[in-house]
Amino acid sequence: MIEPLLVRADARPRPDFLIGTKGLHIGGSEVTARSGDAFVTIDPVTEQALATVSSAGPEDVDAAVDAARRAFENPAWAAITPYRRTQLLLQVADVIENNADELAILESLEMGSPHTQTRWMIDHCVEVFRNHAGWPTKIYGQTAPSASTQLQYTLRQPLGVVAAIAGWNGPLLQMAYKVAPALATGNTIVCKPSEHSSLSTLRFADLLRGTDLPAGVVNVITGDGKIAGERLMSHHGVNKVAFTGSTATGKHVLARSASNLKRVTLELGGKTPYIVFADADLEKAAATCALAFCAGSGQACVAGSRIFVHESIRDQFLEMLIQATEPFKAGIGDPFHPGTRMGPLAFRAHFERVSAYIDLASEAGGKLVTGAEPIDGGGLFVAPTLIEGLDNTSRIAQEEIFGPVSVVMSFRDLDEVVRLGNDTVFGLAASVWTRDISTAHRAAARLDAGSVWINRGSQMSAGPLPFGGHKQSGIGREHGTEVLDAYTESKSVVVELS
Ligand code: NAD
Repeated sequence: MIEPLLVRADARPRPDFLIGTKGLHIGGSEVTARSGDAFVTIDPVTEQALATVSSAGPEDVDAAVDAARRAFENPAWAAITPYRRTQLLLQVADVIENNADELAILESLEMGSPHTQTRWMIDHCVEVFRNHAGWPTKIYGQTAPSASTQLQYTLRQPLGVVAAIAGWNGPLLQMAYKVAPALATGNTIVCKPSEHSSLSTLRFADLLRGTDLPAGVVNVITGDGKIAGERLMSHHGVNKVAFTGSTATGKHVLARSASNLKRVTLELGGKTPYIVFADADLEKAAATCALAFCAGSGQACVAGSRIFVHESIRDQFLEMLIQATEPFKAGIGDPFHPGTRMGPLAFRAHFERVSAYIDLASEAGGKLVTGAEPIDGGGLFVAPTLIEGLDNTSRIAQEEIFGPVSVVMSFRDLDEVVRLGNDTVFGLAASVWTRDISTAHRAAARLDAGSVWINRGSQMSAGPLPFGGHKQSGIGREHGTEVLDAYTESKSVVVELS
């Protein structure tokens, strides 16, 4: 029996922000939803109500888009210098930094992720805003070659109103990845966080009133994806959609966005292969593979949910992997316990979905090498679950489970593992472990994934390196120089000289 690390109820943080119904943030003010609806967000440790949050209806979405449009056209935003935009982005970074602990606490309370992890994510948001603060003064057009009687050049201009929709597993970070480039390029934005993790984005909206950002530049609406999200995606006043979530919802969002040909970037699901060759640093590889599927209780787009081990080291490496999951098993618990390394899953319906996949693995003939031991008190905790005996065609190896579950498979050579690694509809990331520089670079070139990590696990970019998916893991890129193309439109100007 696994004993979760628990914390006394009166020792758990309870920020004042949880008091009262949380309103929508439209045009610089917190307002009551015109829909009159609200929903209750749940603490996954206790499964008790945590806070009451307004539920935006279509009329609220329309008001937020109108506010963003007015702000986009307002000289207080549209006519400021690039350097002023830099200063405003730095102010945003500062208010997050100054309130990082509270923001992290809200995320841990709502998502169940260990406080150390949510604190890391909030610190990462600060870095994202500071990195993007460098862009406004470096967005250049080009001068085109032309006849001496003409001047031809391009301008890079903002798109207008951006709609940002985030998943629940990294709420403010996923928003930061969208708000920072939108502001750096002069757009305005309407954010809709997930109904399972709205609080940190709402608190962020509050904090923005402590900056000089003009009202309406950043708006936050909360509510159901099928109502508020749907309206936002279909809204003709929105010029661009920046979406993070599941591949199924991403496809729907893309179809809805077609009504007025919105620009779209999609950050979607994954089934990341971790590939371990016999010559790798096996200790390090095993520790990193365990981290890759246990961190965040596996609720990560880049979770290492398929582990391919060279056949010559399979038994030895499996044993090392089992050992490497031990600290996570011993660290199952309340996000506010200092020893916790894995919190509960974020909400009951998701817990049931992950549990059903684990049952399915056994029914399909898979063996639970770890994870079969029950957890005292149950709740929404799931132990690190390593499965062997299934091949890459099984549903467990093909579908995104989004829990602490990984399937271990073996391979003969590079050709085979590249074929297996790529044999999925996803293409978000891959991790390759070898000391052979040629194998490493050959694998990096041939793996069909937006990011390839050699001798390390996931590294999320805070700015310099683009991040995004191949195939059904997404469209477009966040970060890097590519982010500028995603948030600006090019205009060609031809001047006839007299
Ligand atoms: P989800 O698709 O269920 O929801 C994502 C968001 O879409 C939520 O805000 C939801 O309210 C909204 N939504 C739902 N239906 C909608 C509709 N009809 N129209 C508009 N919006 C709608 O995803 P989730 O469960 O919240 O997040 C987990 C998924 O996100 C996983 O698949 C994970 O891999 C993916 N993810 C991807 C990345 C990445 O960068 N590639 C990062 C984190 C998470």
